[in-house]
Amino acid sequence: MNIHRLCLFLNNQQRAAVSAPRTNFLVLAGAGSGKTRVLVHRIAWLIEVEKCSPQSILAVTFTTKAAEEIRERLEELIGLLQNSMWIGTFHSLSHRFLCSHHIMANLPKDFQIIDTEDQMRLLRRLIQSMNLDLKQWTPRQGLWYINTNKEKGLRPNHIHRVSYPIEKTWLRIYRAYQDTCDRLGLVDFSELLLRVYELWRSHPAILDYYHRIFNTILVDEFQDTNNMQYDWMRSISGKSSHVMIVGDDDQSIYGWRGAKISNMQSFLKDFPLATVIRLERNYRSTSNILEAANILISNNNGRLGKKLWTNLACGELITTYCARDAFDEACFVADGIQVWVQNGGLLSECAVLYRNNAQSLEIEKVLSQRGIVYQVYGGMRFFQRQEIKDAIAYLRLIANRNDDLSFERIINTPTRGIGIRTLEVIRQLSREYDLPFWEASKKLLKDKALASRLASTSLQSFMELVDSLEEVTHTMPLYAQIERMLKDSGLWLMYLHKNGENGQRRIENLKELINTTRQYDSHHALYDKHEVPLRAFLAQSMLEAGGGSVHKSQDSVRLMTMHSSKGLEFAQVFIIGMEEGIFPGQISLNDAGGLEEERRLAYVGITRAMVKLTLTYAINRRLYGQECLHEPSRFIGEIPSKYIKNVHYSARATTNIPYHYKGTNTVSMVSNNDVRIIQRVQHEIFGLGTVMDTIGCGKKRRIQVNFDDYGVKWLLASYAKLKLS
Ligand code: ATP
Ligand code: MG
Repeated sequence: MNIHRLCLFLNNQQRAAVSAPRTNFLVLAGAGSGKTRVLVHRIAWLIEVEKCSPQSILAVTFTTKAAEEIRERLEELIGLLQNSMWIGTFHSLSHRFLCSHHIMANLPKDFQIIDTEDQMRLLRRLIQSMNLDLKQWTPRQGLWYINTNKEKGLRPNHIHRVSYPIEKTWLRIYRAYQDTCDRLGLVDFSELLLRVYELWRSHPAILDYYHRIFNTILVDEFQDTNNMQYDWMRSISGKSSHVMIVGDDDQSIYGWRGAKISNMQSFLKDFPLATVIRLERNYRSTSNILEAANILISNNNGRLGKKLWTNLACGELITTYCARDAFDEACFVADGIQVWVQNGGLLSECAVLYRNNAQSLEIEKVLSQRGIVYQVYGGMRFFQRQEIKDAIAYLRLIANRNDDLSFERIINTPTRGIGIRTLEVIRQLSREYDLPFWEASKKLLKDKALASRLASTSLQSFMELVDSLEEVTHTMPLYAQIERMLKDSGLWLMYLHKNGENGQRRIENLKELINTTRQYDSHHALYDKHEVPLRAFLAQSMLEAGGGSVHKSQDSVRLMTMHSSKGLEFAQVFIIGMEEGIFPGQISLNDAGGLEEERRLAYVGITRAMVKLTLTYAINRRLYGQECLHEPSRFIGEIPSKYIKNVHYSARATTNIPYHYKGTNTVSMVSNNDVRIIQRVQHEIFGLGTVMDTIGCGKKRRIQVNFDDYGVKWLLASYAKLKLS
């Protein structure tokens, strides 16, 4: 690629940033101004024009999805990238450093990453074993205490003076937690960064080696870095490296997790001769949307201040919809999506954004009722689902017998006659002799110390199963390993025999796991060709933060929180639940700083929209089991009325648009099939009943009906031949 082509789709300011001399600089600009585009072009420029080696560039961002996107956009510019390029999230890059230097970092070769749920389970066990009351010493608070300290770089032995008396106990819990993790080779997310940071500090030769390797470091979404990430980035940039950071103070939305906007000012102080480059033209949104966003965010104080303009047309007005309740709100959104598709748009061009994950439920119900395919990002992440965690626990134990968390999870899943009492004996012995559960179990069997014969035999065969799975599968491709494990362990059968939708969905997810690993096998390579695929896959599955990325190719509506929408863009955006107490949330209402962060979040949400934006609120909403009457969000009030078209539910004709989507997952809802919850229906045999719920779509669509004479039944919609009554 020549220089001319590389700069073809860049404006002057962007071009200046892409081709800037090698110095430290901050690209400060509002939403949709091309910051990520500049970052990607800068990498291409360094490789193609300045002839830097691809390995000399380190690019960091926050989510796996954003990192994938940087890779993809870069491949469009310069062709296929080597896997060994250093593009990733703070966590995935830290993992890579630790894999290369695990000995120096005091970690076993097969160390495992644990997620929040694992952390909580471990904490629960430790708190119990310390004879503390779980109600007073909750695992959640412990988690907060530990993570906050790690993010400040503080180990238990760094905390000499406790600020409040009960902190002494938290400190004890922190110590016990860390000792256990170290003993078992477990690494949590905060630990990944802290370990690397400590590794660099205690081994200057390693740091020096990387200083010589990396001559450019780039960070996207810099406004969301916390203390540890800032220190991490400062450490890895050596005297001769140049740092480019990209950010927008108005989009800082992780203050509650320790992110500091002030890191942007610190950068200008700490990095020699650092300068600021501003981008001022927005390429994403119509001018109505952009103006509304600009005016909204101008209500915040202490901003770094940016101008943002567009020469895109005014576009449609922003719609605000006053819904009767959550169901009506969801129907309005679904109608909007159907109209969009009927006008030739794609489902994947539509996003529904909300403040909290739980808000997706009502929308999901209505979308599936109408057979509209959707994907939820970040809600219950794929790798956090029960059946997937069970499967992964088997794999983890196969890879590392010292993984007590996995051992505990699957020792009796599926049930094999090993009860709580046996597990307690194993735990006790493990404490007494300082052994992992696996070794403790071996000792129990050898000493014939278990009272119950059945428990002994079951424990023995469980351990033989794990050993034999390793032996039989270690030469197989990953997907075959998983298939075999699912069958031999009995997990597959267990879920197959689970009743109803639940079991069926879990089987579908397990199939998806096999599929994912099949793809993984074919373009395998996390970064190290010599890495055992199973281990590499396990690390990746824990680092995967985006969730739901399994159905990449499917045309579907995207549902996500505004936090997860950072950096993304969609032609049509709905923001639901725009009500005081929900957004802005109750807690932020009396806190000026919190309220400003919520406003920044609204700014992020609004600026995701390219063409069409709809903001909805409900007069009446059921929250935590209670009816609530909320005022519309102040953020709607802060947008001048000239940008808005108000729609009220009373003025809206109830539409029930039959939906004929022509994609591959075709679902056509014929009107007499389009039943709604609480509608009365008639069945040929069961008679009259009330619709309670519906799940799935197309041929798999099931309807739950409470029949007056036959009680509750799940029916397959395509066979039930229900008549509306
Ligand atoms: P955010 O703040 O949301 O992260 P951003 O500043 O990173 O946004 P990008 O995602 O890089 O912005 O770009 C926004 C959109 O504008 C993208 O669709 C991008 O392709 C387009 N764009 C950016 N610069 C140009 C340009 N010079 N010409 C045409 N399109 C552009
Ligand atoms: Mg961006």
